[in-house]
Parts: sequence; C-alpha cells; structure tokens
Amino acid sequence: MHEMGLAVEIRRLAREAVAGHGPGRIEIVRVAVGELSAVEPDLLEFAWEAAVAGTEDAASKLEVDFRPARQTCRVCGEIAGRAPGSWLRLCPRCGDALTVSGGDDLDVLRVVFEETVPLGGASS
Ligand SMILES: [Zn+2]
Repeated sequence: MHEMGLAVEIRRLAREAVAGHGPGRIEIVRVAVGELSAVEPDLLEFAWEAAVAGTEDAASKLEVDFRPARQTCRVCGEIAGRAPGSWLRLCPRCGDALTVSGGDDLDVLRVVFEETVPLGGASS
C-alpha cells in the first residue's frame, strides 16, 4: 500500500507549509486525489491516521477532494459517471471508445493550522 508513504509525504508538505508559524498542530489537510492517480481515498485517510498517530498532529483530519476523470465521446460528448471498461472505457450510449482526460491530480490544497500559545511566555 503506497498510500502510507504518500501520507507521510503529505504531512511533510503540510508541515513545510506552516513552518514559521511557531509551534502548533495541524487540524485539517485537504488534498485533491484524481481518479487516475492510483490512490484509494479511503486507504489514504486510513494511512493519514497512522502517519500522524503519536505526533502533535494526531487529532488532525485528512480531507480528500476526489477528482473524477473527464470522459468524452466524440459522438455523444461528455459522459458523466464511470464508464464501463477497465483499460479502455466505452461510451454507455453508442459503444465508441472514450477519450479520458484529467483526473490525475495529487495535490495538497489547504492546510488548517492551529498555533499553540506558549504557556507563561506570552508578552502582550
Ligand atoms: Zn457515444
């Protein structure tokens, strides 16, 4: 399951994004996962929990924004939903081969970070 390595990498990127904000914990990380990126959203969420377990980010949540691929039939136009066929998708209306595009996203979209205020050290 390569989702585990990916979860560790996402946490590294999220931590990098909030570097310089001082101590704190990550609350939410939102990632885009394309249909063709070979990543299972469920497995990734599960891997995230394992990746942050025992760290200051243990209570954080990984949100997956699933991005389906775009399927176009040259006769019928855009086809919604996952068309049948594994290596070659066929148009559910006319049976013609579909052109598949997009859906290969794999990005960190947003990191919600909560700064922890150092106890006793605050000077206002
Ligand atoms: Zn068609």
